[in-house]
Amino acid sequence: MTPYDIVIVGGGVVGSASAYYLKKHGFSGTIAIVEQDTSWQSGCTARSCGGLRQQFSTPENIALSTFGIRLVKNLAEEFGPEADVGFKEQGYLILASATGLPVLAENHAVQIAHGAHNVLLDAAALGQRFAWLNPEGLAGGCFGLSHEGWVDPYSLAALFRKAAVAQGVALIQGQVQAVDAHAGRITGVTLASGERLACGTLVNAAGAGAGALAAMAGIDLPVGPRKRYVYVFDCPQATEALHKAPLTVEPGGIYFRPEGRNFICGLSPEEHEEPTVFDWEVDHAWFEERIWPGLAERVPAFEAIKVISAWTGHYDYNALDQNAVIGPHPDVTNFLFANGFSGHGLQQGPASGNAIAELVLHGGYRTIDLTRFGYERITRNEPLYEKNVI
Ligand SMILES: Cc1cc2nc3c(=O)[nH]c(=O)nc-3n(C[C@H](O)[C@H](O)[C@H](O)COP(=O)(O)OP(=O)(O)OC[C@H]3O[C@@H](n4cnc5c(N)ncnc54)[C@H](O)[C@@H]3O)c2cc1C
Repeated sequence: MTPYDIVIVGGGVVGSASAYYLKKHGFSGTIAIVEQDTSWQSGCTARSCGGLRQQFSTPENIALSTFGIRLVKNLAEEFGPEADVGFKEQGYLILASATGLPVLAENHAVQIAHGAHNVLLDAAALGQRFAWLNPEGLAGGCFGLSHEGWVDPYSLAALFRKAAVAQGVALIQGQVQAVDAHAGRITGVTLASGERLACGTLVNAAGAGAGALAAMAGIDLPVGPRKRYVYVFDCPQATEALHKAPLTVEPGGIYFRPEGRNFICGLSPEEHEEPTVFDWEVDHAWFEERIWPGLAERVPAFEAIKVISAWTGHYDYNALDQNAVIGPHPDVTNFLFANGFSGHGLQQGPASGNAIAELVLHGGYRTIDLTRFGYERITRNEPLYEKNVI
């Protein structure tokens, strides 16, 4: 039985950032990251769209993402001059119909109050600023003038992982199949190989597998996989301005953004449309029937496009309120959660890792007060909703 002070289950962006910040902030004990898939192909991180935005309605979400954006903009300071995650600071453009405009305006006010650099545009201004956009049916849009865009998600997680391992964090390939507890404390985990790792603290960074991991300790965490598709398409008629477009979100939720000389797009299903099979198959009818008509209506150049590839990812979905659960379990206090980001965990991974490090080292938050994101709201069944879930 190998003892570690901290075992982190999951080596995606959240687990790797947790290990990295623990070491950065001076944790002198031993840390192991246990990861079942060290090809990193099936985790959420590598399958993400890499988007970073300030456009949230909850101050904590704005702060979590701003931490990530600052890091990305100052990457060399953190990881050295060679570090590169391909940041494209092209902004987010969240569009609204007349019905959605009051919420968009309300969110914009919260964002500005928390330091965001966004502007609210009416339909005429949208048409002027984005010549490729058909503003018909729109009442406005909120555009990120800076501090928003996208990165290569794999590269971001790899920077954390590499730096953590360089500082002595052990990366163990294996699947956790049991969590051992005694007298209200986690004592270790057992891997599929039969190996047992004892630990002083267990960090749940298992992404879409977080609910299953918590269940091994008899804890109910409503976080599980939700299947999402991303389609890559070519648009021969795209202008240079369209290639420089922001990540644009339709009032109905269809989103697209440039990806190299191509574009990517997607749409989250309504609750009753959620796929129930968690394989890696892509539903091409979802693009043809639900996405393409909306894309072509909003961007006339997208009437002639060709899907050239597509992928499936499994969102780390928090069924209670689609927001992160961060912090210790109130009774099993050496079991820490950083889960359920539901589509925004890539940008919030760095700040969440930093938060985990602060909890371990100081017993409380120093950078962002995440008390409202704690597990307690699950026990109390008190959801903390975002007003604009993307
Ligand atoms: C299609 C798609 C698009 C997205 N777009 C964005 C975006 O634009 N912006 C954004 O911020 N976020 C986005 N996300 C969400 C983001 O990718 C996730 O929230 C984030 O990557 C979560 O990171 P993680 O480290 O918690 O999870 P993961 O990267 O999934 O890491 C968890 C790891 O835990 C491992 N694991 C699980 N259970 C066990 C076990 N029992 N034993 C050992 N290992 C285990 C898994 O193999 C996995 O590698 C998107 C997600 C998807 C699917």
